Amino acid sequence: MKMTNVIALDQLKIKLKERFYEILMTYTQTSFQGCLNDIAKQLKLITHAKAIDVFILNDSTLRYQLCSDPSESNEYIKKEPFHLSTLQQLVNGVNKTFSYPSGDDVLYQPKDDITSFIVPLQIESKHDGFLLFLFDNQSFDQQVVQLFQEIVQETNRLIGKVKFFHKSISVKDKYEMLYRVTSKFHSSMNINDILKEVIFTLQDIYPLYDCFLLLSQDDPQTEGLPVREFDYQNKEYHASTEAYLTGQIQFDDTNDQKASMYAPLKGKQGVYGVLQVVKEKNILFIEDEIEFISILANTAGSALENARLYEQSKCLIADLRLINQSSQELNSKRKLSDTFTYMADLIKHSFKGEEVGFVLYQNNGNTPQILKESTSFFTTNEGRSLITFLNEKIEQKTNMVFIGDFQVKYPDLDLPFQSVMAVPMIHEHQVIGFVTVLHPNEYFFSFETYKLLQSLVQHSALTVVNSLLKEELERLVQTDYLTKLYSRNYLDEMMNQHLEVGQQGTFVLIDIDNFKSINDQFGHDTGDAIILQVAEVIKENIRSHDIAARWGGEELAIYLPNTNIVAGEQVAKRLVKAVATRTSPTVTISCGVSYWDQQINGGSKAIFLRADRALYVAKEQGKNRVVKQNEIAI
Ligand code: GH3
Ligand code: MG
Ligand code: MG
Repeated sequence: MKMTNVIALDQLKIKLKERFYEILMTYTQTSFQGCLNDIAKQLKLITHAKAIDVFILNDSTLRYQLCSDPSESNEYIKKEPFHLSTLQQLVNGVNKTFSYPSGDDVLYQPKDDITSFIVPLQIESKHDGFLLFLFDNQSFDQQVVQLFQEIVQETNRLIGKVKFFHKSISVKDKYEMLYRVTSKFHSSMNINDILKEVIFTLQDIYPLYDCFLLLSQDDPQTEGLPVREFDYQNKEYHASTEAYLTGQIQFDDTNDQKASMYAPLKGKQGVYGVLQVVKEKNILFIEDEIEFISILANTAGSALENARLYEQSKCLIADLRLINQSSQELNSKRKLSDTFTYMADLIKHSFKGEEVGFVLYQNNGNTPQILKESTSFFTTNEGRSLITFLNEKIEQKTNMVFIGDFQVKYPDLDLPFQSVMAVPMIHEHQVIGFVTVLHPNEYFFSFETYKLLQSLVQHSALTVVNSLLKEELERLVQTDYLTKLYSRNYLDEMMNQHLEVGQQGTFVLIDIDNFKSINDQFGHDTGDAIILQVAEVIKENIRSHDIAARWGGEELAIYLPNTNIVAGEQVAKRLVKAVATRTSPTVTISCGVSYWDQQINGGSKAIFLRADRALYVAKEQGKNRVVKQNEIAI
């Protein structure tokens, strides 16, 4: 059909302007793409073309992209974005040389049954896009070509305006959203909330795209979020890894149907993950989308960094508080056993250790002594072998045992635990022992936990040394240097304590007979040896809770708590008999036995006095014997 015949050119131009004006006036929130569709439709109506398609150059990819609905009647249409150089294939087949028309030129190419016009669009600059008109084969005169030139000018103006509107509306929307997101980021220290905000914002703005967060394994709870585990150690090249490592946005179009953009979640100190945005491959990411997504990802990165630093500082504060509290507690402990009981509880509770072992190198020796405050595993054979193993490690001055896969590393030990930590206890550059913590699960303890344990053990070392010294000193004060029996003071103290709480008790005072003559005859050293022999006999003949002491000189004493006088007398008689046979040179002893219960009391002094009198009677009666208090007049 001859267009010149159909309608006067001037009328046609007016009609086109009217239609375009309408499009411009009704353009509000419709998408840019929708508007281009309308333009194509109107042009088709006016020109009676077989098909009209609008192609726009994507600034970031330099590829043309079909922006109107593909015309059904256009079998040449290329729906995927293509480069300028492939434009020729769209129209007349590959053999004809084709170059993009310069300036306002319209490319007109008749073919057997189809006539095509490529009409360049210059919205902001050259080569911004083109319109592709297809007509059933007919010839066009110069007038018609001119008409196309005018159509193009109108179309350029319209698209330019619409693009400007579209940009300003979408930019306003996006920045409002970004403002909202940013303020949310800065008001929340919760990592999960922040990630949710990123995803929801993206879904709001780009409902057709899929968004994923690529985060490393040790990230916090991400329930309800489209999180994909991020394998950044993957050796194969991947755009996501590249984005993570370089901190730069990456694109991936290796998939047949989908194209992905990877935006790093970047803060000041590092990259905290990657945001993946996926869309259909034939729609390409346009510049302002890329810009917006990267601003969002960067804002999220900074917020994540803040939140992580906050989490870290919270942990540090909690750790410091734990150390501070435990130091105070430890300093208040006087007994070694209290110190280790407290530490065992703390380690079980705060570090979630399943078994806790304490080892001390006693008397500056290297023999490791497993303390009774250790948990039950350390009383077993496996527990003891583990201590031997750890002892070697600590001795080798590696000074650090932090193992997460013990069974794999040391299968021979057959240990039912995978996670093993051991920290030496050091005082004045000397290893005085170590603490070990176990858990059956693999890699259960974090390095932070190990450092915290180290800190705790360091803080406890001084308390342990102090307690050790104190207990040693107490032992020295309580003990007689020659016989290693208790001191008289200690016996006195213990007896008084028992007088408060007990029901009855027996006291035995022992004096070696004719000791002066032993000294005279054999010398003082032999005298001392005899005292020691008598002390040994006593130790062998009493129970663990009986208290034997050196009373002074060659006098010894025993307090037998909760023992009546009959039983007490038997013990004394047994001693008299044993001493007479077991000493060399042979000596005998005399014993005075006193007793208290609810009726006869009178305090410790009276009890000593009663025994002393009974002893005196024993000596009077010929020595080598036992005399009870009730055998004498009190
Ligand atoms: P009796 O049978 O009456 O007890 O006669 P005795 O010789 O044992 O007399 P007495 O208990 O009065 O004298 C104790 C002597 O024991 C006095 C002292 O020389 C001696 N003696 C006291 N303490 C020690 C000591 O630690 N070592 C030695 N070798 N001798 C001591
Ligand atoms: Mg004496
Ligand atoms: Mg004597």
